[in-house]
Amino acid sequence: MEEIISLAKRRGFVYQGSEIYGGLAGTWDYGPLGIELKKNIQDLWWNRFVRERDDMYGVDAAILMNSRVWEAAGHVAGFTDPLVECKKCKKRFRADHLSSDKCPECGGELGEERKFNMMFKTLVGAVEDSSSVAYLRPETAQGMFVNFKNIIDSFHPKLPFGMAQIGKAFRNEITPRDFIFRTREFEQMEIEYFIKESEWEKHFEYWLEEMKKWISDIGLSDEHVHEIEVPKEDRAHYSKRTIDFEYDFPFGQSELYGLAYRTDFDLKSHSKESKVN
Ligand SMILES: [Zn+2]
Repeated sequence: MEEIISLAKRRGFVYQGSEIYGGLAGTWDYGPLGIELKKNIQDLWWNRFVRERDDMYGVDAAILMNSRVWEAAGHVAGFTDPLVECKKCKKRFRADHLSSDKCPECGGELGEERKFNMMFKTLVGAVEDSSSVAYLRPETAQGMFVNFKNIIDSFHPKLPFGMAQIGKAFRNEITPRDFIFRTREFEQMEIEYFIKESEWEKHFEYWLEEMKKWISDIGLSDEHVHEIEVPKEDRAHYSKRTIDFEYDFPFGQSELYGLAYRTDFDLKSHSKESKVN
């Protein structure tokens, strides 16, 4: 990994974020070649899945969203990672990333596991009280769900249709690592496709094939991509089926992206919380 990071820097692809001040953990800056590579992939995706289709609606929602969005979506209560702190050196780790019950830094004893919310909290406006709390979005999906009614009202699409977004998301990772893989600020390319419930299996198969074609068209070799059927106990509570695509990264096999049938969980939650039908 060190060799790849060093090469990416020398050639102008990726630099450490805020480097002249010693960096800021979990942030990376794209250089001239890195941003061209990234934009090429994003443009290809946008042209293929948005511009060339007549059933897809693009949006670019604000990163700062009303905190009630995240209450309705369950993130205020549940967007957490298990955190443990070393009693000796006070360093913090993700409990599910540890291979022993001792501190990986100093060998000290670890404290009790607790839940750590990964959303970045900020205050909007000049008043510092709980009513001004907002979160940087930890995922792009909700920016599409909260605009569902706007798309219906402006364009009157018939089912099935989709919404697409490319944009930044922020997660306060306990231990950012593996170069640009697990970072605190990152970009997502995401589609939410709305269907009739009775037809979900057919659409699921269709999007699975589309994703496979996309992977091969951007030049990732099939032998390094693995399709993982996520078992019920590991799926998000609202998902009826999830398939993760994992890739053989230099640091090991890990998630590249996924396909999930989320049922009507999101739209139902927002409709209930916002009282907007
Ligand atoms: Zn320690």
